[in-house]
Amino acid sequence: MKQGACKHLNLSHLEAALPQLLEGARGEQWTYETFLERLLAAELEGREQKAIARRLKDARIPRKKTLDAFDFAFQPTLSERRLRELADLSFVRTCTNIVFLGPPGTGKTHLSLALADRALTAGYSVLFTTLAELAQALESASHPGLLRQRLRRYIAPSLLVLDEVGYTRLSPEQAHHFFERSIILTSNTSFAQWGSLLGGDEVLATALLDRLLHHAEVLPINGRSYRMKERQADRRSLDAPLEVALSSTGGQATGVG
Ligand code: ADP
Ligand code: MG
Repeated sequence: MKQGACKHLNLSHLEAALPQLLEGARGEQWTYETFLERLLAAELEGREQKAIARRLKDARIPRKKTLDAFDFAFQPTLSERRLRELADLSFVRTCTNIVFLGPPGTGKTHLSLALADRALTAGYSVLFTTLAELAQALESASHPGLLRQRLRRYIAPSLLVLDEVGYTRLSPEQAHHFFERSIILTSNTSFAQWGSLLGGDEVLATALLDRLLHHAEVLPINGRSYRMKERQADRRSLDAPLEVALSSTGGQATGVG
């Protein structure tokens, strides 16, 4: 095999697999056909794996969460059946939005990550971000070309997870870009308060909300915080001394969830 030909043709996976395939071909006397098939399969498979790894990396999923790890019994206002149906991903195909609304600690981010994980496994492109991060990326773009490039990054994926929609303000132009594919959105701010997200422009906020909600499924989670449950479990196992810590962090319950 001519040195460098694989590199020149960009067949790095084939090149890596070649020694072993040659050995197999000689040892087991493969037909020319089998040999060629296996060479090409090695390249194709390598490319596929690389594409999957790239998609995973691009998705910027902060941690893996699954529906199986979600304790539905703890959150009785949420329909497990509905979540299992959503996990079939028809919402991505129909560009339907999902809105998880609820207080901090009720599992909004967990469920978003679990659905995002399903979408990734199924081969969709996904991007996980927070509204604050998105607004910061767009606002800090120093020239129009960079802004376009960054916008594309957020708009291109089949599924965008916009976590913690809360106190950041997005310009009206920025907000308009995000309705062409599925969005999973989480917020602990009621819709009534969203006007302030758009520089206080209530009319625009209403128009955008209409558009977002027209193709959306809203899943309110009205239960208790799982974080508090975990802390209480800690407290039980440690017997009392956490009492002070618990009451001093109680104020966090009003933060962005
Ligand atoms: P939110 O985004 O609503 O503030 P998170 O999804 O971040 O809440 O949940 C806080 C933590 O509690 C996470 O580690 C999450 O995995 C866990 N959690 C929340 N609700 C549940 C639940 N019902 N079952 C299992 N773990 C949960
Ligand atoms: Mg959250």
